[in-house]
Amino acid sequence: MSISPNSRAGFVAIFGAPNVGKSTLLNRFVGTKVSIVSPKVQTTRSKVLGIHILNNTQIIFIDTPGIFLPKRRLDRAMVSAAWGGVREADQKLLLVDASKGYDENTKKIVKSLSQSSQKATLAINKIDLIAKHNLLKLITEINSSKSFSDIFMISAKLGDGTDELLTHLTLKIPEGPWLYPENQISDMAERLTASEITREKLYLQLHQELPYAVSVETENWIENDDKSIRIEQVIFVERATQKAIVLGKGGRRIKAIGQASREELERIFDKRIHLFLFVKVSEHWSDDPERYRELGLEFNS
Ligand code: GDP
Ligand code: MG
Repeated sequence: MSISPNSRAGFVAIFGAPNVGKSTLLNRFVGTKVSIVSPKVQTTRSKVLGIHILNNTQIIFIDTPGIFLPKRRLDRAMVSAAWGGVREADQKLLLVDASKGYDENTKKIVKSLSQSSQKATLAINKIDLIAKHNLLKLITEINSSKSFSDIFMISAKLGDGTDELLTHLTLKIPEGPWLYPENQISDMAERLTASEITREKLYLQLHQELPYAVSVETENWIENDDKSIRIEQVIFVERATQKAIVLGKGGRRIKAIGQASREELERIFDKRIHLFLFVKVSEHWSDDPERYRELGLEFNS
């Protein structure tokens, strides 16, 4: 750990409505995938840390679940984890989807933000999707709340403007000893990472057919003598019909999901992986306290 007298360290929370590109931005800042990304909302379920080091500064990003009006228990737990992440941070970075404009979710977030004393940095994301003249209108609208110290326009996906944003955030990190070991890029345990990667592949392969309440757990992790790893995971769904969707005709879907996940896990862990997926119907997994702990969420939020 760095103990040089001018070391700096601090937390930056990336927050905003679902699907605005928070995880994509985190992965870009960290330079590798630490948070899963999909076109489906609510992909990120609990807080994820990603760490970036620039010279003497350790900047720790907190990727949060999207903030929206929660209805179900799982929703409440995710939104509560998101605001918790925002409160813990030294700096707040609000992300807004330029193509969605100043929508209801973002309005509510900005309203809560205006009650806090500390100003946030605003980043308008996905500028690759809209015309410049529409951007100006959006910025004027959002900025009327006076909750922001700075405004950036970026494309997290393409990398436009993200270096400038990163430099800006880094400069505001306070002096202090580093908080994580130099070579650590995330706080996620390997097992959870493996579960998250499979969950991402599920989302990517199933699109709209995918039930909202699906969860992946890594039940076994065995390191073989030849250095390869045997990973056994269970995909929990709530109904038998959903199990059939995940399996696909003749098991073709689950095979494709498993293959995509295994290939990515081999890249991440740089080892040969033997991945075994099982699908289980568990009607009430989203009411089970144990599942929440495994996801890093509070059951009673
Ligand atoms: P989150 O829910 O806020 O974490 O959003 P994700 O990072 O999971 O991204 C949601 C979707 O938006 C994914 O399909 C991303 O590929 C896409 N996305 C993220 N950033 C950009 C961007 O700058 N431009 C475009 N066109 N798409 C983006
Ligand atoms: Mg996310």
